[in-house]
Amino acid sequence: MKIHEYQAKELFRQYGITVPEGYPAFSVAEAITAAKKLPGPIRVVKAQIHAGGRGLGGGVKVCKTLEEVEARANDIFGMQLVTHQTGPEGQEVRRLYIEGGADIARELYVSMLLDRETGSVVLMASTEGGMNIEDVAHNTPEKIHKVWIDPSVGLQDFQCRQAAFALGLTGKTVRKAGDFFKKLYKLYIEKDCSLAEINPLVITGDGDVIALDAKVNFDDNALYRHKDIVAFRDVDEEDPRELEAGKYDLNYVHLDGNVGCLVNGAGLAMATMDILKHYGAEPANFLDVGGGATAEKVTAAFRIILGDERVHAIFVNIFGGIMKCDTIAAGVIEAAKQVGIDRPLVVRLEGTNVELGRKMLADSGLPILTGLDMKDGAQKAVAAAKEYAASL
Ligand code: ADP
Ligand code: MG
Repeated sequence: MKIHEYQAKELFRQYGITVPEGYPAFSVAEAITAAKKLPGPIRVVKAQIHAGGRGLGGGVKVCKTLEEVEARANDIFGMQLVTHQTGPEGQEVRRLYIEGGADIARELYVSMLLDRETGSVVLMASTEGGMNIEDVAHNTPEKIHKVWIDPSVGLQDFQCRQAAFALGLTGKTVRKAGDFFKKLYKLYIEKDCSLAEINPLVITGDGDVIALDAKVNFDDNALYRHKDIVAFRDVDEEDPRELEAGKYDLNYVHLDGNVGCLVNGAGLAMATMDILKHYGAEPANFLDVGGGATAEKVTAAFRIILGDERVHAIFVNIFGGIMKCDTIAAGVIEAAKQVGIDRPLVVRLEGTNVELGRKMLADSGLPILTGLDMKDGAQKAVAAAKEYAASL
């Protein structure tokens, strides 16, 4: 789960991590009230969306007067903010954060995330803070210093010093940075984060260390024990299809392709996406209906897939193990009746009760193409999608 910058900064304050004074605003009027609470004269108007790169997209504006705050808040509030993380359609700005201007001497980068290879949290620090860390990681990876934190002992003082020296810090700022890293690690562990990224981490003219930006993501599997974090959820920022899928316990991720996939098991879902790409199509989604797919779940899955106009064919690829093929066939038939499938549908079934499942589909009178195996099904789905697109 993702949260907004202003919410992450609220958490930072709880953990004693220094951030500039600031207030969220849900309208332009609130933005002005918020700006007046700040001493000024420099105030920053910041768009709150669940995506980075806001500065480059025009969603972060440094203002010298209250009039300017009002003008920029007017510009940004309600705008469709496009950043390298939102995709070309952008994201509507419904919340603002009005923050005091910081005295920036240096902009650095620090983050913590899970390193699956070593099974530990890795602290990453770089002198190249600011707006383009993806480019730094890509072009000059040696400029990102990494410290692996042993989970049994936590972040050690010497590791804090290593990271601080890698950032070129000296004097009292070394200790301040170490203190900052330790608090961030505490938050990361206690709140079950999957990412905590501060870009930029700022060294002020006085040598203080502050978080100017804050991006914190959480492990969904641990949310049950963090009611305070769940309360931060902003469903306006979520894909409506993924939201709907969540209600039916479907593992669904929306993608940009033209063949909708309905599959059981995450591994088979990945393989299905691969084979579709192999035969020249792009998957429109990742969808794992899971082990206990009922007719209701399958129906919901079809509704979500068909709601996407870019879908030109659907490929159902099921391996009936625990789940029997006849159950899936019944679900497909029921869903087809309820939703009314208006695009080519290819079904490949294999496993327990496959004969019965195939017979049910054949007897249903529905215009379903049968995939004899995974390869045949994928090829038929790709061809059907092309044919459908040509007929439009
Ligand atoms: P994003 O990463 O989404 O572009 P940031 O919060 O990192 O958004 O802001 C982008 C840039 O704007 C920062 O690198 C910094 O230079 C400037 N900035 C952000 N907040 C402040 C602030 N409170 N005071 C001064 N400058 C700021
Ligand atoms: Mg940033």
